[in-house]
Amino acid sequence: MPHRIPLVAGNWKMNFDHLEATYFVQKLAWSLRDVRFDYKRCEVALMPSFTSLRSVQVLVEADRLNITYGAQAVSVTAQGAFTGDVSADMLASLGCSYVIVGHSERRKYHPEDDANIVDQVRAVLAADMQPILCVGESFEERRQGIELDFAVGQVHDVTRDLSEAEAARLIVAYEPVWAIGTGMVATPETAQDAAKAIRDDLRKSFNASVADSVRILYGGSVTSKNASQLISEPDVDGFLVGGASLDVDELATIARLA
Ligand code: PGA
Repeated sequence: MPHRIPLVAGNWKMNFDHLEATYFVQKLAWSLRDVRFDYKRCEVALMPSFTSLRSVQVLVEADRLNITYGAQAVSVTAQGAFTGDVSADMLASLGCSYVIVGHSERRKYHPEDDANIVDQVRAVLAADMQPILCVGESFEERRQGIELDFAVGQVHDVTRDLSEAEAARLIVAYEPVWAIGTGMVATPETAQDAAKAIRDDLRKSFNASVADSVRILYGGSVTSKNASQLISEPDVDGFLVGGASLDVDELATIARLA
């Protein structure tokens, strides 16, 4: 059985300014220390807004916290006349380990198509960070019964352009769009079926070693109430948590359950 350390990543979306972010990180670190949380058994990551990254970095470094962090988006270009954009190198120099790529909210509200998402993944990998590639069907695809093909296809669209070594550094988050922020969490079986289908495709496209090393997270209305059932599935390696990650106790509990 391959050993993948579970990852619980809090996707704060557009919440918390840098002061609130600092307070949150301190409270989370205290709360995990109180329960003697074992960071070797589960990694805890936070994905703040760009404006909070520097504050999180300073705190993590000063207090030598084991919490990791990353960004929610990245530019595909390295530098230049792109007003408002933030490059992968800028994020790497802030100590980011991860960047969320292809979140359904970004696909919907920004011009992020498949080609752009591939370029983001490449930019993140080139800057020595790991992309958390978000995929997942809408309610309509589920109604048509094509949800697995759809999610696998979204991963495939990215991985077909990657080398074996690059693919092995991917993290995939299966986040059915109908489950995001709705309270309608996927059943453990649904999450497992999708994670397994994605892993099977990685095995077919690359090899067992790539398939076994890629962490596949579930995201969509994860809370402390449903996390333990979801994580007991063999191919679910952690969570991308949105709403519940804004509450320290919730996030700490989810991390303990994972
Ligand atoms: P949610 O969001 O946990 O609030 O459903 C998850 C996500 O969008 O990553």
